Amino acid sequence: MLASTAGSSTESEFYSPVPQGYRKGFHKYVVVFGTVMSGLGKGIFSSSIAKMFKEKGLVVAPIKMEGYLNIDSGTLNPYRHGEVFVLDDGTECDMDLGTYERMLDQNLSSRNFVTSGRIFSEVLERERLGKYLGRDVQMIPHVTGEVKRHLRELAVYGDGTNPADVVFVEIGGTVGDYENGFYIEAVRELAFEEGPNSCCFVALTYIIEPKALGEQKSKAAQLGIKRLMEAGIQPHLIACRATNPVTNTAMQKIAMFSNVPMRRVFSMHDRESIYTIPEDMRQDGLDREVLSILDIHDRVDIGHEDRVRRRWTQFVHKLQATRTYELTVGITGKYAGLRDAYASIDKAMEHCSAHIGARVDLRWIDTTAITDHNVADELDGLDAVIVPGGFGQRGVEGKISCVRYSREHGLPYLGICLGFQVAVIEFARNVLGLAGAGSTELDPDCSHPVISELPEQKRIEGLGGTMRLGAQDVQVTPGSLVHFLYGNNETIRQRFRHRYEVDPAYVDRFQAKGLIFSGRHPAQPIMQVLELAQPTGGDSADGRIRHPYFIAAQFHPELTGRPLSPQPMFMGLLAAAIRRSAGGSDAWRNDDNVARWIRDQHTGVQTASAGSPD
Ligand code: GLN
Repeated sequence: MLASTAGSSTESEFYSPVPQGYRKGFHKYVVVFGTVMSGLGKGIFSSSIAKMFKEKGLVVAPIKMEGYLNIDSGTLNPYRHGEVFVLDDGTECDMDLGTYERMLDQNLSSRNFVTSGRIFSEVLERERLGKYLGRDVQMIPHVTGEVKRHLRELAVYGDGTNPADVVFVEIGGTVGDYENGFYIEAVRELAFEEGPNSCCFVALTYIIEPKALGEQKSKAAQLGIKRLMEAGIQPHLIACRATNPVTNTAMQKIAMFSNVPMRRVFSMHDRESIYTIPEDMRQDGLDREVLSILDIHDRVDIGHEDRVRRRWTQFVHKLQATRTYELTVGITGKYAGLRDAYASIDKAMEHCSAHIGARVDLRWIDTTAITDHNVADELDGLDAVIVPGGFGQRGVEGKISCVRYSREHGLPYLGICLGFQVAVIEFARNVLGLAGAGSTELDPDCSHPVISELPEQKRIEGLGGTMRLGAQDVQVTPGSLVHFLYGNNETIRQRFRHRYEVDPAYVDRFQAKGLIFSGRHPAQPIMQVLELAQPTGGDSADGRIRHPYFIAAQFHPELTGRPLSPQPMFMGLLAAAIRRSAGGSDAWRNDDNVARWIRDQHTGVQTASAGSPD
């Protein structure tokens, strides 16, 4: 007998680890595949079904499986891939995770995001540890086995409190791509092992409507679905993305060629807002079909569904309502023109503008050519300015000019991360008179490095040379603007993604001239929120620089904005902008409606008319 075959047994042909606590038959899976092309909104689709299921009282756990070899999204260029989203535990991931968090109002973690790079590196690590018991390590069963392990571990973990009734799996890319083939194989194996009614396979496809023809063509969709079937997967349900509602003819052809009954083929045409999708799906009966496929009708809690749906419907009505105010908000972005690079800011604005009753036109501003001389023209017509996060030198001087203009002209300002740092630099240069003030990220030799990398600080925090990533508590000064915005909470939890920070050696000088550091690390001298004092409505004899709304955060408030609990810093920005555009008093904080809205948000009380601060 040859040595290499000695000891082989049928058992070792399979590698499908099942974690402790796993209940076969209890955990179910909905797997969404993309066909024809990427960018169809698999994440939006998957999170919309997950949302409906959560409303039904089921525990849901989404996961996105990316095909690329990067270990996470940390090094990806937002210009190519959209924004890098950061989770509470510091995971840097795809922006789809933001969609899941917002739709589900559920915090996610590294369990909910996986890349090929991470799977492979785990396989190689295990191999070095001798965990494969002398076997030659192969794509099947070992790599696919690790994929199944991830999915089953997530099922056991669920939402962190209870195990998942349903795991929603979004497979990145398109069926037929080289790099996601092993994911598709893994879920095929999973369905086989878990048995009937365990998995609902959904093919999200695209119906082309060439202008010249003026009709919908389904051939590309048919071919894409066929490709999925070649991989051994018979879809249970087909969702057709399209610009316009998909015609019956196109859907019939798809049903016929893919063995999927018409009642399980759905039109997923473009909508004004993604937040209307769950209700539209429900009307089409999509949730019932998935419940049937997974055989879990008996787990639905109708009372719960009615209660939570009501709140959501109120929000959707606000989204669709005619808005009382018209605002234009400028966002200075290096990636001006690419909304995906600032997806969470875009979404935070969408939520807040609906709650406050304003139609907000976002104007993306490229700052590379902005100077103190032309900034007035560039910002002309704006009701508020946001300087978002960013890395590197490009356009920074223009951003500093925008901060200066906003500060000196009472234009409501919200700075985020880099927008916080440039506000500090601007104040140092133009108020403290430190002409050489800068950040060592942008100019390592600047004479006053008010923003700098502080290795000593990082060492205390145990961060090494790395970025500050993920959620941390921020201590808020009582009586400050940020304290008011967050419902008089003295501790708020926020997500960070940055390397540089305010050098504490300068803090006293800033404060003496009126820059208030109203949010700080609970134990260390790390500045996390800055603001200017607000107008008192009467005299301001103390000579402090005052401003109706000038606030900036070293963290990223946009990452935690949710449709039903809109982000307070953005809400305040819009309230101040409304006041300004209406020519009212600067003291927008005294406005009853804003105050009531804030109070309601933080006490969970629902005031039907809350929102319009007029
Ligand atoms: N580049 C800055 C830093 O690393 C800001 C980062 C950001 O805006 N996300 O500190």
